[in-house]
Amino acid sequence: MPLKTAQEYEESLRKLNLAVYMFGKRVENVVDHPIIRPSMAAVAQTYELAHRPEHEDIMTATSHLTGEKINRFTHVHQNVTDLVKKSKMGRLLGRETGCCFQRCVGMDSLNALSIVTYDTDQAYGTQYYPRFLKYLEYVQENDLTCDGAMTDPKGDRGLPPHKQADPDLYLRVAETREDGIIVRGAKAHQTGAVNSHEIIVMPTIAMREADKHYAVSFALPSDAEGIIYIMGRQSCDTRKLEEGLMDRGNILFGGHEALVVFDNVFVPWERVFMCGEYEFAGKLVEKFAAYHRQSYACKVGVGDVLIGAAQTAAEYNNVAGASHIKDKVIEMNHLNETLYCGCIACASEGHKEPSGTYAVNTLLANVHKQNVTRFPYEIARIAQDVAGGLMVTMPSESDLNAPETGRWLKKYFAGRSDTPAEHRMRILRLIENITLGTAAVGYLTESMHGAGSPQAQRIMISRLANMREKQKAARHLCGIDPE
Ligand SMILES: Cc1cc2nc3c(=O)[nH]c(=O)nc-3n(C[C@H](O)[C@H](O)[C@H](O)COP(=O)(O)OP(=O)(O)OC[C@H]3O[C@@H](n4cnc5c(N)ncnc54)[C@H](O)[C@@H]3O)c2cc1C
Ligand code: SF4
Repeated sequence: MPLKTAQEYEESLRKLNLAVYMFGKRVENVVDHPIIRPSMAAVAQTYELAHRPEHEDIMTATSHLTGEKINRFTHVHQNVTDLVKKSKMGRLLGRETGCCFQRCVGMDSLNALSIVTYDTDQAYGTQYYPRFLKYLEYVQENDLTCDGAMTDPKGDRGLPPHKQADPDLYLRVAETREDGIIVRGAKAHQTGAVNSHEIIVMPTIAMREADKHYAVSFALPSDAEGIIYIMGRQSCDTRKLEEGLMDRGNILFGGHEALVVFDNVFVPWERVFMCGEYEFAGKLVEKFAAYHRQSYACKVGVGDVLIGAAQTAAEYNNVAGASHIKDKVIEMNHLNETLYCGCIACASEGHKEPSGTYAVNTLLANVHKQNVTRFPYEIARIAQDVAGGLMVTMPSESDLNAPETGRWLKKYFAGRSDTPAEHRMRILRLIENITLGTAAVGYLTESMHGAGSPQAQRIMISRLANMREKQKAARHLCGIDPE
């Protein structure tokens, strides 16, 4: 059965030979590195929950290729119910991990490619779709985690790829050979890159003929020769190197991002899904972006954790009954559930593409993501209000444990008399983690820029909102167009 356990997932990562760098040095043991390991543990939850009977319906699906039970993260959506379950899976995992669990980018890449490779074949008589299906079957059979690599470094944002001072600022085909292509360039901000078995590359913008060599999509094993990972920093990341767990806030899980460099990497033809068909670059970006904007159901799950933490902090201070605190908790829930409405709505209004894959409603996915660029910031602001200032002025776990200082912290950081100071400190550290620490990367800044900065959604909303229909309705009702 192609369903890995969390343990098997971890073991499979140990077999990879990734070229990973952090703090200027090569990381020899990626899986056990203290800064990386919590992010691996978060991805492992996507495997673990698939084996739990209570989550089976959400976490697994039936492959349309083999009829076998597979992890939903490797599934190509076959109906609207699949899309809705995907949104529910995002919330579930966000709540379980309290951070970015990383595996959605790969799922969204697979689904976008299942639409665009088919459409390209219809237009040009190419054979990308059968090639892609073979690859998909391999991913499903081995229950692989894929990194979805779209964002190029982009250099001068005012210039197209072929006009950049350095031609590698967008990833491109550097050489075409009989057996495949050589690619050069980089992908920035790659979520979960070093926890992935595969890396799926796609173009990052719509392109014209002059950018033909940049219109390229392919998949490679993450340890293919010439791929280099340079780990991104996260605020408070080195707390994971300290003794003790409490100051991390989230003591179990985390996320990561990396710059991925492709230093003249060979891709065999059987793993190339676009090569020069520049007219389809924009469609691939649009389809991936819509799916990934839906994927921000994860923020609702992390929001659940943050709201739960704020309520707990209020109870520890014995202010939870105050009317303004109750109202602030209602406001947080209102914002969070509004986000949930968006990701369920774009799934429920999904449709079938010519390849048979179900796509989300693009307008509603963009409206949802636009809300995601704002509401988590507001929820975080209210959580910090409710938490109080100790969240950012609190001494360390070591001070709590040291006899000389610990007795003062226990005495003066007590809240309600039945609550140990340590519990109060732990819940405040969690709020700090999500709103200012390592998890804020995913909960806040990724909410802003991930799957495209806010302006990208506004452009889509202006393009897709049917203004003529709205004007027609208005003109009819006031008698300008009686018919
Ligand atoms: C935590 C995190 C995780 C991510 N994970 C992934 C991932 O797994 N895979 C992936 O492919 N990508 C990922 N991304 C990348 C994400 O899609 C990009 O951050 C996003 O597309 C914005 O690009 P940028 O960061 O280069 O910002 P910039 O392009 O530098 O944008 C900065 C500002 O400039 C504006 N701007 C940019 N270009 C123009 C222009 N031409 N005209 C006018 N205004 C412009 C933008 O609207 C924005 O306001 C991730 C990002 C983050 C923050
Ligand atoms: S930010 Fe959310 S949608 Fe994106 S990869 Fe992380 S968990 Fe998935």
